[in-house]
Amino acid sequence: MESNQTSKKAIVVGAGLVGSLWAVFLARRGYQVEVYERRSDMRAAGYTGGRSINLAMSERGWKAIEKAGIREKIEKVAIPMPGRMIHSVEGELSFQPYGKAGEAIYSVSRGGLNLELLSIAGSFPNVQFFFDHRCLDADLERPVLTFEDTGTGAVKTVEAPLVFAADGAFSAVRYAIQKTDRFNYNQFYLEHGYKELSIPPDANGRHRIDPSALHIWPRGNFMLIALPNADGSFTCTLFLPFEGEVSFEKLTGNDAVNAFFKKYFADALPHMPTLLDDFWGNPTSSLVTVKCAPWQWQNRILLIGDAAHAIVPFYGQGMNAGFEDCTILDAMHDELDGDWSRIIPQFARERQPDGDAIAELAQRNFIEMRDLVGDPQFLLRKKIAARLHERHPDFLPVYSMVTFSNTPYHVALEEDDAQNRLFERVLRLEDAEHNWDGVEEVFGQWLNGKLNS
Ligand SMILES: Cc1cc2nc3c(=O)[nH]c(=O)nc-3n(C[C@H](O)[C@H](O)[C@H](O)COP(=O)(O)OP(=O)(O)OC[C@H]3O[C@@H](n4cnc5c(N)ncnc54)[C@H](O)[C@@H]3O)c2cc1C
Repeated sequence: MESNQTSKKAIVVGAGLVGSLWAVFLARRGYQVEVYERRSDMRAAGYTGGRSINLAMSERGWKAIEKAGIREKIEKVAIPMPGRMIHSVEGELSFQPYGKAGEAIYSVSRGGLNLELLSIAGSFPNVQFFFDHRCLDADLERPVLTFEDTGTGAVKTVEAPLVFAADGAFSAVRYAIQKTDRFNYNQFYLEHGYKELSIPPDANGRHRIDPSALHIWPRGNFMLIALPNADGSFTCTLFLPFEGEVSFEKLTGNDAVNAFFKKYFADALPHMPTLLDDFWGNPTSSLVTVKCAPWQWQNRILLIGDAAHAIVPFYGQGMNAGFEDCTILDAMHDELDGDWSRIIPQFARERQPDGDAIAELAQRNFIEMRDLVGDPQFLLRKKIAARLHERHPDFLPVYSMVTFSNTPYHVALEEDDAQNRLFERVLRLEDAEHNWDGVEEVFGQWLNGKLNS
């Protein structure tokens, strides 16, 4: 029996990456889908690529995209990044592969991907979009959603027996649920902000630095990263504390910005002719983690994507996690015969520990990226982990587990804790790099201890 959906009607709030993908999944199952989005229709505006902000797509994202039927199309414009290119202060480069040969994360354009997803959702006759519709509130009891037409200011209500809230980190639907009894909510801002900058193509339209890597300039408490775009440019992101000795608040004018880049990112500076325009033209944005529970209200309203689990971007998993929400929900639809009164609570219960886990892993990876990637002990750990994986294929480095597998995030987090214990011991060995017998011995002990626990 399929409950809550006698008319098979579903409302999706938010047509960002997750909302538009989920609309495709619902449409394929024959639902009458209404999608409400506060922004205008980017298809009508004819998305041109514009300022191309990109995201790293990995296994979980690809799996969902494949199910939506657009993997091939996205793959054509995705740029493989098989590793990190670390830039030292002196400008020395070192390349660290992310996984085994053939494994890579992919740089994809956020706008381009969103546009593809909207286009495929829009190709279903059973999907109706309402752009320029901002959700103001949800009356949970009735249940109805209130929208404002941002063009005319008109306010209307929409009956909403089955709602998927994909309206992002500051979800209006979640805000309504937050006011109900026994809803837990935790919001945490990093002391760092970020600013998008760019490395434009060279005079021949080509990339100025190696496009087959995610570039990182780790500088202890802050860092610059750059992801390649298909048009020959790179989108760079500067992560820096808002306040303090070295911080956004200290970068008060052109001289300060130039001096800062000259001191810390000297090898990037010559490739950034638009630095000052970018710096003053682009906002300094904050980085929030949102954890909440339960992700649903009375088996009728479900939070998905950032609305349920907004995380910091340092594992490149926010979108991937949101896309995986769609894959898992879709599988549960099969498993539970489309009975939303069972799917919604089960999903909310089982998936939430994964949302919390990837939030934690993402915070840990920030420390790794900005700090440890330049640390010899960290590099040694990576080397030994890769070698252990070669010799014991069941031993998967946590980065690979998160990025190149579909292992639940909460399992990856447990493994991270366990591997931290392992490497704490391994790195205490004298000359661990060459003392392979010693490494194997510690590994054996760890494995046994782990199996016994
Ligand atoms: C700097 C940065 C870098 C990142 N890099 C990566 C990466 O490399 N890889 C990765 O996997 N993830 C990355 N992420 C995370 C990723 O951007 C998000 O996880 C992803 O966009 C979440 O998708 P979403 O659809 O849930 O939310 P959003 O993308 O925020 O979409 C929400 C949609 O809802 C609409 N909306 C909001 N409020 C309302 C309302 N009241 N009424 C109607 N509509 C509304 C919005 O206009 C928007 O279209 C990054 C994030 C940041 C900030």
